Amino acid sequence: MGFERVIFDSDRLAVYPKFEALDISPLLKVRAQPLRVLRFVADAHLGGLASLLRMSGFDTLYDNGFEDAEIAEIAAQQGRIVLTRDRELLKRRIISHGCYVHALKPSLQLRELYERLDLARSARPFSLCLHCNLPLHEISPELARPQVPPRIGALYSHFLRCDACQQIYWEGSHWRGMCALLAPLLNR
Ligand SMILES: [Zn+2]
Repeated sequence: MGFERVIFDSDRLAVYPKFEALDISPLLKVRAQPLRVLRFVADAHLGGLASLLRMSGFDTLYDNGFEDAEIAEIAAQQGRIVLTRDRELLKRRIISHGCYVHALKPSLQLRELYERLDLARSARPFSLCLHCNLPLHEISPELARPQVPPRIGALYSHFLRCDACQQIYWEGSHWRGMCALLAPLLNR
């Protein structure tokens, strides 16, 4: 409620930060209690950011079919921070932790979150599958080589695999590109 009616002695008041205040707070949260584990659910427009967060090792749910109500429900049930560029979504009462993302480009959105939520301390780069959001496991070159192009098998000896989608990751140009993106964020 606002101040549109007189408050009586018997009234019980709960005070929440004004919503606009979220924009200037370093850590945008609706409740005072910070979440111990940083886990996210990203809205349908933040697919690029979702995979960059996964690349950093942050458990991030994303599906471009998620409805707003579903996102709010997931956040409430699983203790996830809602990431969105839609202020209306953050106004849903069951969302206790939400973050309005200002930047438009995924790489800049990632930087914004690293700065505002101090992500560098808890980042575990290349620990999650970018597609499935599930842990990657190291596999031996012998196991990996039959499943990657021969040139890759000859060049690299360190491989990670997602048990869910079977995707194999190695330290190729794509990986190095991601490292270049992450390095300045992690070294802050
Ligand atoms: Zn996977």
